[in-house]
Amino acid sequence: MAMLHDWGSRDDQFLRLNREVLARLPAIVGGETDFVAVPMQGSGTFAIEAMLTTLVPPRGKVLVLSNGAYGRRARRILELARRPLAVYETPEDTPPDPAIVERILARSPAIGHVFAVYCETTSGILNPIPAIAEIVARRGRRFLIDAMSAFGALPLDARGTPFDALAASANKCLEGVPGLGFVVCRREILAGAKGNATTLALDLHDQWTTLERTGQFRFTPPVHVIAAFHRALAEFDAEGGVAGRGGRYGENCRVLREGMQKLGFVPLLPPPLQAPIIVTFRMPAHPRFVFPRFYAGLKKRGYLIYPGKLMLADSFRIGCIGRLYPEDMRGALAAIEAVLEEMGVSLAPAEAA
Ligand SMILES: *Cc1c(COP(=O)(O)O)cnc(C)c1O
Repeated sequence: MAMLHDWGSRDDQFLRLNREVLARLPAIVGGETDFVAVPMQGSGTFAIEAMLTTLVPPRGKVLVLSNGAYGRRARRILELARRPLAVYETPEDTPPDPAIVERILARSPAIGHVFAVYCETTSGILNPIPAIAEIVARRGRRFLIDAMSAFGALPLDARGTPFDALAASANKCLEGVPGLGFVVCRREILAGAKGNATTLALDLHDQWTTLERTGQFRFTPPVHVIAAFHRALAEFDAEGGVAGRGGRYGENCRVLREGMQKLGFVPLLPPPLQAPIIVTFRMPAHPRFVFPRFYAGLKKRGYLIYPGKLMLADSFRIGCIGRLYPEDMRGALAAIEAVLEEMGVSLAPAEAA
């Protein structure tokens, strides 16, 4: 509904919506005093690239913690931007070991920034952000987080978990529409980042100072996306913020995992490593289980799932986020059971992982 109004990108009414959206975001991670939110037009990757290439100076070295496609993407961004980097890579089902992060930082004084992904959506794994944050802060380095699929649902509080910036977007756990990313950044760090950027459009410092000075975006903003985001944030507050939304996703995830295991599917991750965002299942070995038929059968019944994105194993994924409730997960499970029957596939129930 919010998108049906034709907002003017330079008009006061739109600029007020935009200001309200930006003012709301830092408080979601306990950053209302020391942090600012800077929007970046585009998908989430634009915000990640803006964060990395603005906050890391041209000769600053970054340690990238990578256990999936988004860690690899950050690495690629830094390579293209010619930032020196070190990569600590673990398999897609294995979180980085904070003790190893500490050892790398101890022996590499040139590393000024550490980058990690909160929930690596490739697998759905939860990475140990608080433990890493504590080490990075104790070692006097800066901590940058890809919180794209976590912000708004997984807990993060700057007052207890020290970090310097995170990137997220309107269209994941905040349930807006796609087209806007943003960076929530410690004000003092952003203020010191003038001149670091190696692109014009993704210069977060310039974006921030222009917005502060004029209230206006430098370049055309996605006005309808921001209007919808304003509305989505009101719904987020009405649901009880991070606790309410994270609670609902947690229940979705539990219903999904239990039901899928009853049908014989095997989740990739054990419960302590499973973020309640997206669940990866191993591809069943049954000869009549053909993924494109499985996908099409579910689509016909109104359920869209995700192909696997793992290098580690053949898999597929089912999301727990968005405007979905446990009843929807039960509906999906019934549809999955019906499609299995249609394909003539019966799987041995998996033991609870
Ligand atoms: C979705 C996502 C992104 C950004 O992806 P876009 O397709 O650019 O929106 C980045 N990191 C993670 C962990 C994500 O889940």
